[in-house]
Amino acid sequence: MVTKGIYMDNHATTPVDPRVLEAMLPYFSEYFGNAASRSHGFGWDAEKAVDTAREQVARLVGAKAKDIVWTSGATESDNLAIQGVVEFYKDKGTHVITQVTEHKAVLDTCRHLERTGQATVTYLPVDKYGMIDLDDLRKAITDKTVLVSIMFVNNEVGTIQPIAEIGKICRERGVLYHCDAVQGLSLLPIDVDAMCIDLLSMTAHKMYGPKGMGALYVRSKGPRVRLTPIVHGGGHERGMRSGTLNVPSIVGFGRAAEIAKDSMADESQRIARLRERLRAGIFEQLDEVYLNGHPVHRHPGNLNVSFAYVEGESLLMGLNGSVHALAASASLPPIAVSSGSACTSATLEPSYVLKALGVGEDLAHTSIRFGLGRFSTEEDVAYVLDRVVTEVRRLRDLSPLYEMAKEGIDINSVAWQRE
Ligand SMILES: *Cc1c(COP(=O)(O)O)cnc(C)c1O
Repeated sequence: MVTKGIYMDNHATTPVDPRVLEAMLPYFSEYFGNAASRSHGFGWDAEKAVDTAREQVARLVGAKAKDIVWTSGATESDNLAIQGVVEFYKDKGTHVITQVTEHKAVLDTCRHLERTGQATVTYLPVDKYGMIDLDDLRKAITDKTVLVSIMFVNNEVGTIQPIAEIGKICRERGVLYHCDAVQGLSLLPIDVDAMCIDLLSMTAHKMYGPKGMGALYVRSKGPRVRLTPIVHGGGHERGMRSGTLNVPSIVGFGRAAEIAKDSMADESQRIARLRERLRAGIFEQLDEVYLNGHPVHRHPGNLNVSFAYVEGESLLMGLNGSVHALAASASLPPIAVSSGSACTSATLEPSYVLKALGVGEDLAHTSIRFGLGRFSTEEDVAYVLDRVVTEVRRLRDLSPLYEMAKEGIDINSVAWQRE
């Protein structure tokens, strides 16, 4: 682990839990059958394992097993939910409502439907904490609205949306509710019935399962949700998603869901405590730092902070040891985190999520996302805190802007003159 260092980027992906890997391994070799083979024991064994995993994943969100559709990940689940509903219900209406800080899997799908003339889309704004206004949602629903897609937890700033209230509003107005629940699925309780959720996107690799494995919950009763498939051939998964099932990954996803359900309460508390320690340490030892996202309604493992006068990319490289030899020469383990500039694309545009929260461009460029997870330790937090404080101080010592700010010069007037 020394060469790769400390992993604190659990919103990007999580390591596979050893218990998950152990559950998966026999399904690559001993039980390699095709779950759709009905004529022999190889197929039956695979099918039985898939059924068990379906129960396990369903139980995590309070669903019926038969309402779980396996996919290749949440990107596909989001596409299937939104495109599938819009296509199937096109005679009823073509209006979709989402919000500006959704994951690209939702936003780009909506853009595609707009470009091809299949739907009109309303993008609800968010407040400075990343929350939608429920009155905005109520007002946006028309008799042409077929779907509302609002995520559970934002993947950059960790803000938790009031999904039970959103579901209730949608149910009252007879509109289907899709929720991208990827972030937070393993740490925060979800119940599709209590929360009136009709479609729910999941992915295994953000909850200690394998990559390339996801699911879409599709309500079959009260109301029954219909979808036009986007992948055709063979009619697997009740016709909603054809293709031979990835049995080892399905088994892993099931085991990951089972572990999440069992450990959720304790793990949330433990991770939140570690995150609080990191946050408190940063805010005690550094000035001019700003928390992004909601102070309370927030993912337990998420900490997104702007370090004014410090380029996020420079801080990132300082922490991961790729810019200067300091880390290597002092044999300091590198730290894996994300910046608010790079996470959307290869270009250095500030994050559209931070922009939507009203974070200024300058400050958005200084933001870092820490994502704590199941395998984060107190030692990790102590080490990361120490390195962050040291790096920020080092970079600020090199910053004329920071020095001017400390001398009381109005930075904004000076900074703007560069343009
Ligand atoms: C990671 C993520 C996705 C995409 O999931 P994949 O399984 O990687 O396709 C979608 N939505 C959110 C909120 C995510 O964090």
